[in-house]
Amino acid sequence: MQRLTREPTVQRRSYRPEQQSCPTCHSTLKRSHILWRKRLITLSGPVHVTSWGYRCPNATCATAPVVYRSAVADNLHLRKHQFSREVIVQVGYRRFWYHQTIYELHTWLTQDLGLVVSARQVANLSADFLALLHAAQPAKVRAALRSLTYLVVGVDGMQPAKGDTCLYIVRELQTDLTLCAENLDDSSDATIRTRLLQPLKALAQEVGLPWRGVVSDAQDTIRTAVHTELVGVPHQACQSHCLRDAGALTFQADQTLKKQLKASFRGARKRVELRIADLPATDPFRPILADYATALRATLLEGGVAPFELGGVHIFDDLAALAASLHRCRQKGGLCTCCAA
Ligand SMILES: [Zn+2]
Repeated sequence: MQRLTREPTVQRRSYRPEQQSCPTCHSTLKRSHILWRKRLITLSGPVHVTSWGYRCPNATCATAPVVYRSAVADNLHLRKHQFSREVIVQVGYRRFWYHQTIYELHTWLTQDLGLVVSARQVANLSADFLALLHAAQPAKVRAALRSLTYLVVGVDGMQPAKGDTCLYIVRELQTDLTLCAENLDDSSDATIRTRLLQPLKALAQEVGLPWRGVVSDAQDTIRTAVHTELVGVPHQACQSHCLRDAGALTFQADQTLKKQLKASFRGARKRVELRIADLPATDPFRPILADYATALRATLLEGGVAPFELGGVHIFDDLAALAASLHRCRQKGGLCTCCAA
């Protein structure tokens, strides 16, 4: 008969409250009962943790019914979770700051740390991390707002594809702090008011900050929602959106120029590269020409960002600089074999 293998001896840890005496009568607190006991998986392996509740032994003391607990023990875990908080934080940090995949994390946990965990559990751990971040956000927002004397808020909505929900992000513009991010099913004036502006109004009231202004694109529903909900608060159209709209035709013309330049060089670049490859290895011009070919390839890959970074104009300028450089080279040393293309 096969014997069931027993788990190797697991470390045991007991915790008592950090506070040792009763704040009212100063009697030494006495052990009362177990608050929680569980097998917790930490980065160094499983541990049996027990957290003890303590009470004041003096029956006549006003705070005798109060149960004192260990904050250190409570910080080790999340309720109903078998993985310790440090495991969840490390998984989330590696997942979202270093963009490791679930499988890379699984390999790290199982092979490097020797923990028993499934890939599915790793995915759950990264979701737990997001829940922790979300829960910590209100305290972080309030702490950051303490340094301010007024609020300037930017509202922006993004819709990844038509028919999808729209992600609205509200930022405090002096601190670049995200105050809220909400997925809205519709972008109506009423939804923006109830889901974004009313909670923001409540937050401003809570932290005692007056409104200095709101910045958004020219979306009608944001405009009317701000006008109705934040009466008298100045609302400015975002300069970046305005400039992007104003420069749309220029940017479009630049994109066309970029496409034409790339298309006209596509065949020529290949021919030049083949001719360079055919040159004898001892040809002193070969490495110089290869450098030019690499520069040409890199130039044609340049992109643009609306409204001011015009990729087509950049490519045109860089090609002109390359041509001038080649021309100077030819005059000096007679590069002639490949540059005719
Ligand atoms: Zn007491």
